[in-house]
Amino acid sequence: MSKYPVIIIGGGLAGLACASRLHQAGIDFQLLEASSDVGGRARTDEVDGFLLDRGFQVLLTAYPEAKRLLDYEALKLARFSPGALIRRQGRFYRFADPWRSPRHAVATVLAPVGSFSDKLRVSRLRAGVCRGKLEDVFQRPETRTIDTLRGRGFSDSIIERFFRPFLGGVFLDRKLETSSRMFEFVFRMFATGAAALPAGGMGAMAQQIAEALPADSIRTAAAVDSLDETNVRLKSGEVLQTEQVVIACEAPAAAKLLGNPVPTPGRGVTCIYFAADNPPIKEPILVLNGDGVGPINNLCVPSEVASSYAPPGKALISVTVLGVAGDGIEDEVRSQLRDWFGAVVNAWRHLRTYRIPFALPAQTPPALSPVAKPARCGERRFCCGDYLDTASIQGAMSTGRRVAEELIALQGQSTTSPDR
Ligand SMILES: Cc1cc2nc3c(=O)[nH]c(=O)nc-3n(C[C@H](O)[C@H](O)[C@H](O)COP(=O)(O)OP(=O)(O)OC[C@H]3O[C@@H](n4cnc5c(N)ncnc54)[C@H](O)[C@@H]3O)c2cc1C
Repeated sequence: MSKYPVIIIGGGLAGLACASRLHQAGIDFQLLEASSDVGGRARTDEVDGFLLDRGFQVLLTAYPEAKRLLDYEALKLARFSPGALIRRQGRFYRFADPWRSPRHAVATVLAPVGSFSDKLRVSRLRAGVCRGKLEDVFQRPETRTIDTLRGRGFSDSIIERFFRPFLGGVFLDRKLETSSRMFEFVFRMFATGAAALPAGGMGAMAQQIAEALPADSIRTAAAVDSLDETNVRLKSGEVLQTEQVVIACEAPAAAKLLGNPVPTPGRGVTCIYFAADNPPIKEPILVLNGDGVGPINNLCVPSEVASSYAPPGKALISVTVLGVAGDGIEDEVRSQLRDWFGAVVNAWRHLRTYRIPFALPAQTPPALSPVAKPARCGERRFCCGDYLDTASIQGAMSTGRRVAEELIALQGQSTTSPDR
C-alpha cells in the first residue's frame, strides 16, 4: 500500500496552491483529482480552435495571492478595458471608471445610468475601498451588498442599470444578497488592477502551477470515495495511506467526504458560446444588460481581449445567463442578441452551452469573518477551497497556501521535537 506524508484531494486552484507551497518547502505529497485534468472550476476546453472557459470568468490581476503564485508574463495576460458598455433602451452606453479611463469620463457622466451624484458616489466608494490595507475590508460591518449600496445613497437607476448586472455577474446573484465585504473586496480588486484572460484560457493558470510540480505528484481520474484517519480510499477500490489529508474539494464534495450536511445550494450559471465571422463589439469590454429584461446578464467577445480565443478570422462570443437555464435557452438568447446586434446573429454558430449548478458558494452574511477561518477540519485533516474565504480565485489560492503553511509548521515542530 502506498504511503504519503500528505494527500491532497482536489486539483482546483486551492489544492494546487497547497501543493505548490508544500513542494517549495520540500514536503512530499500526492494530489488526487477526480476529473480528467486539474483546474476544477477554472478549466478551458478547446472546441474547433476556440478556447471555451467553463463559464465566463476573469483573473483580477490585483489578487495578491495570484500575483504571488502565477507568472503573469508567461500566461500572456490580455486585459479588458476598464468599465463596461451598458445596453439600455436600444443603445449601448459607456460606463467607465474616470480614474482609469479619463478619455471616457464625459461619456460616462452623460450616460443615462444613474445621476451625476451617483457617479460622484462611485468615485467616493472607490476611494473608500482602496484606502488602508486589504484586511481592513474584512473589519468593516458586514451586511448584504444591496443594503450597502442603498446605505451609501445610490439611486435605483444606477443599482438596476449598473450594479445589478455587474455585481450580479460577479457574484452570480442578481438579488445582491452577497456579503458587503465580498463586494468591497471585489470592487477594490477591480479598481486597483485589471480584469484579464490568459492567452491559453483560464485553465492555463492551473496548468502553469501543475507544470512546476513533480510529474508523479498529481493523479487525475482518481476520485476519492471515503477517508478515515490514515487511509484514503479511491472509487476504484485502491487504498492509500497518509499522515495528513487536505480536502481541497468544492463545498458540497468536501461536506460529503467529511460526512457533514451538504451546505446551502451554491450559485448556478449558464454560459453560452457562439462563433461569428465578425465581432459584434470591436473592443475588449464587458457588456451589461441594463434593461433587466431577457435572459442575458452580460456578454463579451473574449477573442477581442485575447485573439488566441478564436481561430484567425473568427470571433468568439460569450453570453452569461444567471442560474441554470432550461432547454431552449440558446433560442431565447439568440432572440435577445438579434435585438441587440441585428439579423447577423442568425449566422452565428452555437458552439457549446455550459450549465454549472455549483459555480460559486453563496456568501450571504454572515459569510466573511475578519479572521481567516481555521483550516483544520479533523485530527489529521485540513480543508481549503473558495468557500472558506472570498469565493474567488484569490480565496481558493489563499486557503490552499494557508493550509500548506500549517502543515509546514507542523512538520517543523515534529522535526525539531526533542522526542524524535
Ligand atoms: C462560471 C464561473 C465564473 C467564475 N468567475 C470568477 C471570476 O471572474 N473571478 C474569480 O476570481 N473567480 C471566479 N469564479 C470562482 C473560481 O473559479 C473559484 O472560486 C475557484 O476556481 C475555486 O477553486 P477551488 O480549488 O476552491 O475549487 P474547485 O475549482 O471546485 O476544485 C475542487 C476540485 O476537487 C475535485 N474533487 C471533488 N471531489 C473530489 C473527490 N471526491 N476526489 C478527488 N477530487 C475531487 C473537483 O473535481 C475539482 O477539480 C468563477 C467560477 C465559475 C464556475
